[in-house]
Amino acid sequence: MTTDRKFTVIAHRGASGYLPEHTLEGVAMAHAMGVDYIEQDVVLTRDNVLIVLHDLYLDAVTDVADRFPDRQRSDGRRYAIDFTLEEIRSLRVHERVDSSGNAEFPGRYPHGDALFRIPTLAEEISLIQGLNRSSGRNVGVYIEPKSPAWHRSEGRDLVGELVSVLNHFGYTGREDQACLQSFDTKFLQYARHELHSDLKLVQLIGDNSWGESDVDFDFIRSQKGLESIVNLVDGIGPWLLQVMHISKQKIPDISDLTARAQQLGLFVHAYTLRADELPAEIGGIGNASRFLLHNVGLDGVFTDHPDQVIRALV
Ligand code: CA
Repeated sequence: MTTDRKFTVIAHRGASGYLPEHTLEGVAMAHAMGVDYIEQDVVLTRDNVLIVLHDLYLDAVTDVADRFPDRQRSDGRRYAIDFTLEEIRSLRVHERVDSSGNAEFPGRYPHGDALFRIPTLAEEISLIQGLNRSSGRNVGVYIEPKSPAWHRSEGRDLVGELVSVLNHFGYTGREDQACLQSFDTKFLQYARHELHSDLKLVQLIGDNSWGESDVDFDFIRSQKGLESIVNLVDGIGPWLLQVMHISKQKIPDISDLTARAQQLGLFVHAYTLRADELPAEIGGIGNASRFLLHNVGLDGVFTDHPDQVIRALV
């Protein structure tokens, strides 16, 4: 089936199904795959530089424990905010591992070689803008400041730093290829009303059990909840299982969240479609992609395997 409707493909942490997440190599690969946006998670270093890293701490994707054995906090983790950019640049990045040191996605890029580094946000945007120039495309950035409330408790203005870097690189308004995404509504309000940013804003929606922020996501998904953010944000980013539910017995159920949000004029970009994390019942990422576009009616998806989604939808 073909459709004229534009489906936005967002490379989740780069082409993270193929190369370690949030590395410049993975960004270049995602760009070459023809995605619309590449996603960045950002945190601050001790010297207040934005780096592209998913966790507040460095342990799950780098060799920080070997290099800096004595720099953990009381929870045993080594936080990016306790390290200078120079120290962070010296770390080697590998595929994500769990707390026992096992690869979270065992079939992905092999652990063990030391090719990869953590980029700054400025370096990553420079690379994307350079590739945009040389390819004649306009791939966007889709950025999540990680745990802005935690950064504030550490005395830092994560969202303020982010908006100023984006402004520096020419991303200032809704017409620009940039989205600022957050689970924490307070910081979207901060960006819009205190920093007076006109960037596209996206309310991420999690599950209350995850403890992502003090936002009540059950409320946000309700009609009243969506109406409470419709004048603030341009779109929502729900979890995939909030727009569809997969059961063994039948074709997936579709929730009305997507349609209700779109009726209010919001776009819906769900996260995260992974070829190696799908129940067998759905019949592969190609089927899942077509179902999300044609049946669920999503406007776009975050995916670790953007080439497979794009191939399925042409
Ligand atoms: Ca993210």
